[in-house]
Amino acid sequence: MAVQREVDLSHANTLRLPCVAERYAAPRTLNQLQSVLAQANRLGWAVTLLGGGSNVLLPARLSGIVIRPAFAQWWLKAEGNQLFAHVGAGVNWHRLVMELAAAGLWGTENLALIPGDCGAAPVQNIGAYGVELADVIEAVQVVDRSSGHVRWLNRDACQFGYRDSIFKGALAENVVISQLVLRLSRLPMAKLGYGDLASRLPESPTPLAVANAVCAIRREKLPDPEELANAGSFFKNPFVTDQVADELRQQYPDMPCFPQGDGRTKLAAGWLIDQCGLKGFRQGAFAVHQRQALVLVHFGGGNRQGLLALARTVSEKVAARFGVTLTPEPRLITG
Ligand SMILES: Cc1cc2nc3c(=O)[nH]c(=O)nc-3n(C[C@H](O)[C@H](O)[C@H](O)COP(=O)(O)OP(=O)(O)OC[C@H]3O[C@@H](n4cnc5c(N)ncnc54)[C@H](O)[C@@H]3O)c2cc1C
Repeated sequence: MAVQREVDLSHANTLRLPCVAERYAAPRTLNQLQSVLAQANRLGWAVTLLGGGSNVLLPARLSGIVIRPAFAQWWLKAEGNQLFAHVGAGVNWHRLVMELAAAGLWGTENLALIPGDCGAAPVQNIGAYGVELADVIEAVQVVDRSSGHVRWLNRDACQFGYRDSIFKGALAENVVISQLVLRLSRLPMAKLGYGDLASRLPESPTPLAVANAVCAIRREKLPDPEELANAGSFFKNPFVTDQVADELRQQYPDMPCFPQGDGRTKLAAGWLIDQCGLKGFRQGAFAVHQRQALVLVHFGGGNRQGLLALARTVSEKVAARFGVTLTPEPRLITG
């Protein structure tokens, strides 16, 4: 399999941050992945994994090798009364969701229009409209980066949390995700409790109708990275203790709060940023999006330092006003 040299990745990340990879490979089979990992180990190349580049902050240069798993197959398998989708890491997530929904299968429809590859979906346990990947995942196949050994993790072993998993923690540097198994249903199981989703749908919607409604809402709210470079939500929604949330609520009675039932309350990062008057705030080549405060956009000509400087300004203003710390959602990739 070809290993390319000096590959420009500025169009391989949705923030359009300038980045050149010293080497780049896109293995299409497990054998190819194992062989390029063995080559990297033998020659001492640092390995960086990349999917669709929709959740990364890339540096100007990545030395070693960037590997984008490109296993593009998926298939359905019935086991007893249950139906499972086996999905290669290189399958586009949104396309998969729409194909499953069009086939009348329930499970992933609320996660429509999330960019990126299926292989990256477990890393931050993608979530939207009241559903997380953890709700539908059955197992994840991984390849050990040093031995090439293939093994399966069941859902519990993935340690999924809010925008979190073992792939950001103990296994962050150790494995490549090569395949997912998703649990689907032919029986209606619509989850319409989030936002105004229900009001846009008939009483008994199909999974395709739900997916289309989710796409319509997202297109209204979020800038399309093809038109204006961005990485979706730039900050995670912060958690505070219930007591801190109550105190803030007294000062800001209309502040959105989501009690978790475990002594913690989730706050809406976008609301906090908006209250600081930052919608549309521009710093150099970057800005807080004018309609969606959670999204930082890149007008072109900037680099990662510039983006991080804007992120710092936003975090400092939120901390000064609310005493709440914001954490970036995209992964900071080191060169
Ligand atoms: C407009 C927009 C909207 C978004 N909306 C949402 C949303 O609603 N909910 C949500 O959760 N996210 C959202 N995101 C974030 C992003 O789409 C998801 O996190 C997505 O899963 C990232 O996929 P990717 O292929 O682009 O991953 P990348 O950005 O390429 O990589 C992300 C991380 O995963 C690692 N990785 C990639 N592939 C593998 C692999 N095969 N094995 C192991 N590690 C790997 C990378 O090293 C990196 O650390 C949005 C992003 C954008 C731009």
